[in-house]
Amino acid sequence: MKILLLGKNGQVGWELQRSLAPLGELVALDRRDADLSHPEPLRERVRQLRPAVVVNAAAYTAVDKAESEPVLAHAINALAPGALAEVAHEVGALLVHFSTDYVFDGSGDAPRAEAAPTGPLSVYGQTKLEGEQRIQAACDRHLILRTSWVHAARGGNFARTMLRLAQEREELKVIDDQIGAPTGADLIADVTAHAIRQAVRDPACMGVHHLAAAGETSWHGYARFVLDMARELQPGLVLRAREVLPIPTSAYPTPARRPLNSRLDTTRLRQTFGLNLPHWKTGVQRMLSEILGPKATT
Ligand code: NDP
Repeated sequence: MKILLLGKNGQVGWELQRSLAPLGELVALDRRDADLSHPEPLRERVRQLRPAVVVNAAAYTAVDKAESEPVLAHAINALAPGALAEVAHEVGALLVHFSTDYVFDGSGDAPRAEAAPTGPLSVYGQTKLEGEQRIQAACDRHLILRTSWVHAARGGNFARTMLRLAQEREELKVIDDQIGAPTGADLIADVTAHAIRQAVRDPACMGVHHLAAAGETSWHGYARFVLDMARELQPGLVLRAREVLPIPTSAYPTPARRPLNSRLDTTRLRQTFGLNLPHWKTGVQRMLSEILGPKATT
């Protein structure tokens, strides 16, 4: 089975290089090989390669910057997935794509199921939603995996930012009224590989699935866990920050509005693919062990 992976150097793309390799012949491309803001060469690339599966891990992920670059965000997050879906349909490939909890408006406090009404609050969320819709319209054989709060030992993310800031500042203020589940890029990649194996044989698996680690926390709870774990894993690490103070979203204005409720109901994914999703703390702890080096496990 030939698999084409786009966005191979992103948080999720990097882990997919590992998890997809055992499934068949993997062709992994980065922005230089396949630029999602240029759909025609992208289509041509897929036509030439004729993969059985296209996995799109590339995206415009700068949530705040998207507010001032809506045309580029739209090209990469909406038009490119649409073009990929058309060409995947043409060559008979399964298209696997990643989306986000930011397609929802974040109201209430219940976990959202896949069919729940969408209502993005930001340009990023709108473009990701349109990407989903274009895929659904053009290619029946698709998996859209919506995830949340992605972390990885490689690449920039919240946990790494907290570690850096805690070394620079004496006090950290972190939002405590946005609730979600930090989800490891390694978990996303492993689940994606399982899902592909089943989906190539079973059309009933197709469609949108929510993929997030179990449990929930706020950014504040996440930050405290990161710093507590860092102290435990590497007692010699100098963290100047003595306190992590909770603040409401209203005290930290950003160009893009973010949903307060990022909880995703993962029942469909777990039942369809017979998978267990570990607690978010398990993945964050593992990532921190990797970041903080060999001392962490002694
Ligand atoms: P990253 O930002 O880590 O990686 C995105 C990748 O896309 C990068 O490798 C980047 O390349 C590539 N890319 C950007 N623009 C282009 C382009 N024009 N052509 C080709 N490649 C491009 O994202 P994640 O791995 O965190 O995200 C993976 C998926 O998960 C995305 O669909 C995202 O929307 C979704 N998601 C992410 C969340 C998060 O918290 N990060 C939360 C929920 C969903 P380069 O390295 O050259 O910039």
